[in-house]
Amino acid sequence: MSANYLSLDNDVFLKKIEEADKAMANCSLCAHCCALNRNAGELGFCAAGKDAQVACWQIHRGEEPPLAEKGGAGAIFFSYCSFKCVYCQNFQISQQKKIKHGISPKQLSSIMLKLQMQGAQNIDLVSPTHFLPQIIEAIYLAKQQGLSLPIVYNTNAYESKTALELISGIVDIYMPDFKYFDDSAALKYSGVKNYVSTAKQAIKIMYDQVGGFTVDPEGCACRGLLVRHLVLPEKLAGSFEVLDFLRQEIGVDIGLSIMSQYSPCYQAREIPELNRKVDSGLYNAVVERVEALGFEQCWIQELKSSDIYLPDFQSSRVFDGD
Ligand code: SF4
Repeated sequence: MSANYLSLDNDVFLKKIEEADKAMANCSLCAHCCALNRNAGELGFCAAGKDAQVACWQIHRGEEPPLAEKGGAGAIFFSYCSFKCVYCQNFQISQQKKIKHGISPKQLSSIMLKLQMQGAQNIDLVSPTHFLPQIIEAIYLAKQQGLSLPIVYNTNAYESKTALELISGIVDIYMPDFKYFDDSAALKYSGVKNYVSTAKQAIKIMYDQVGGFTVDPEGCACRGLLVRHLVLPEKLAGSFEVLDFLRQEIGVDIGLSIMSQYSPCYQAREIPELNRKVDSGLYNAVVERVEALGFEQCWIQELKSSDIYLPDFQSSRVFDGD
């Protein structure tokens, strides 16, 4: 199965680039709907500017096996974020504004091509939505230069309908993290409003676009929806409700990844209910619910995983030009 964007007509691609640029002029790429003109230098909730900023890019082996087991995921970690999670493991790039390298779509396309040359099995766009216009143009340019890897859209499910319409036909694998099933928790711990209805809507649209999770004969992810869910202490993530929603309103043919890697990072150490690890009783009950609901393709992190996967972006490769 070839990547979606390879069959997208160039005229359609160019129209999307134009529309995406307009969306930045009255920014509504995510559900914050700041309605500011980022092309004129105005900064919204995410603080992302006009030019894309990449914190680091690398072959990444830490994703789920179908995304990383063969050549590794070609991960591009974008700076800034539409969430301000108090427990963010990536806070060095999402919330601390030390990384100032703005890059052009051409430079971004060259990163994609370098990852392909290094043997990556996909292009894994991590926290991409606030730079969607630049990303669409970069994929268009990279396609002209021979990019053929599937595109993975690794996100927090807070996309607007506008953003999902723009990226339709370009993304192959959506990988949203369905983070909460309670709006007050989303507001308190991540600073976002109306998260639950937004995430439900976004995940339904994603599924309508790409369908169930599919792997090729070698076991590599090539198309579909893979939903992640990070279990939080004290049932703060609403894990049981998230699973029931996915089973009842999306389908058992999605990929499902249950993550135990929560660790009290960043500001979470100051918040009593978050300053702890996930209780094994809660985690085991979540895993039992996954099994009872009959999802066909699941990846379950072992509870001991909470001590690994903590990236240090101070020591990762930062983009340094073309
Ligand atoms: S991407 Fe979202 S948070 Fe950032 S300026 Fe646009 S609407 Fe606001």
